[in-house]
Amino acid sequence: MNIKAIRSQFPILEEKIHGKPLVYFDNGATTQKPLSVIQRVNDYYSKENANIHRGVHTLSQEATTAYENARNTIQEYLGAKQSHEILFTKGTTDSINLVAFSFGELLNADDEVIISAMEHHSNIVPWQMLCERKGCKLRVIPMNEKGELELDVYDTLLSEKTKLVAVTHISNALGTVNNVEHIIEKAHAVGAKVLIDGAQSIQHIKVNVQDLGCDFYAFSGHKLFGPTGIGVLYGKEEILNQMPPYQGGGDMIKEVTLEKTTYNELPHKFEAGTPNIAGGIGLGTAFEFLNSLNMEDVLKHEQELLNYATEELSKIEGIQFYGEAEEKTSVISFLIDGLHPYDVGTLLDKMGIAVRTGHHCTQPIMDQFGIPGTIRASFALYNTKEEIDLFIAALNRIIPILQ
Ligand code: PLP
Repeated sequence: MNIKAIRSQFPILEEKIHGKPLVYFDNGATTQKPLSVIQRVNDYYSKENANIHRGVHTLSQEATTAYENARNTIQEYLGAKQSHEILFTKGTTDSINLVAFSFGELLNADDEVIISAMEHHSNIVPWQMLCERKGCKLRVIPMNEKGELELDVYDTLLSEKTKLVAVTHISNALGTVNNVEHIIEKAHAVGAKVLIDGAQSIQHIKVNVQDLGCDFYAFSGHKLFGPTGIGVLYGKEEILNQMPPYQGGGDMIKEVTLEKTTYNELPHKFEAGTPNIAGGIGLGTAFEFLNSLNMEDVLKHEQELLNYATEELSKIEGIQFYGEAEEKTSVISFLIDGLHPYDVGTLLDKMGIAVRTGHHCTQPIMDQFGIPGTIRASFALYNTKEEIDLFIAALNRIIPILQ
């Protein structure tokens, strides 16, 4: 992979922070944007801006075409059967809430939903709210000390009462890559549907929803080089057709009278109101950027970064890693004896290095490890070994200051 050529597509990587070259290791929170995405959003607002789906004028039609083309690009990339199985949402959180509220309407008291102990809050709280609303039971796949799901326990949680299993593909806090193929196969064997939280996946590995066989796949544009405020829920057509609308308003209707409303076809049934048009179009361009890459090379490069960083960090006295799964990608969570993660993060920032500190919206993981949070370095395809060297050198300067 030509990292130099890739880096040249990301203007922000040329920025200086506190006079130091930016080292951006907070990709788990959000990724940076290539010029193609920035320019596409700029072009849309400069030359095509209009509301979509309901205008006869040229701009409205151009904007509609661009927005629907983006949907088609995403459908093709993910290998979905139909473009109307791609629903635009605000992001992963919105996608999961859509399923929890709409698919949730099909559930009854005593039905069961399974999540795991390593979920982001956005794949926990909507299910807790559903269970409160409907009287369903929430069951949890436990996680071992290495940060891997205990799949033998998962197998025993499944029964004909299980209606939905919602798990993350890759953990944002630990980097664990879950065996979602096993999870999906076992869930389907008892007739349950499966939602995969893909917020941390598509930027690292090639995802094909039909190969996976999942019923829902949720992700955010901003974590895969696209704009913020836009994301996707992939859902199988036959299930989406059974689900009631999540929100009411313009665009999601066929006909409205003051007495009764009939609903639009997919995908519009789930896309009430004026959407994030520029975001959708920009997300299509982010997928074109992904299309220009060989994802096997991306994974290999990121794996090298992960191994190198782990090796170099291991040399630091008093370091403790969290998340040492066999299958792991792009995330290192750690603490250094006696140092508060916020202090480390703040001093790293003064040296131009962006990492995340805290619980990473995964408080149950932190509770299991008995810690309030970690320092998390998360890599993307544009990161380099030289940046890891700067990171290690910075840590070696910071540690004696804080001790
Ligand atoms: N799920 C996982 C695994 C995540 O990492 C995140 C964000 O960090 C989310 C869900 C929520 O994504 P968003 O805030 O973009 O909706």
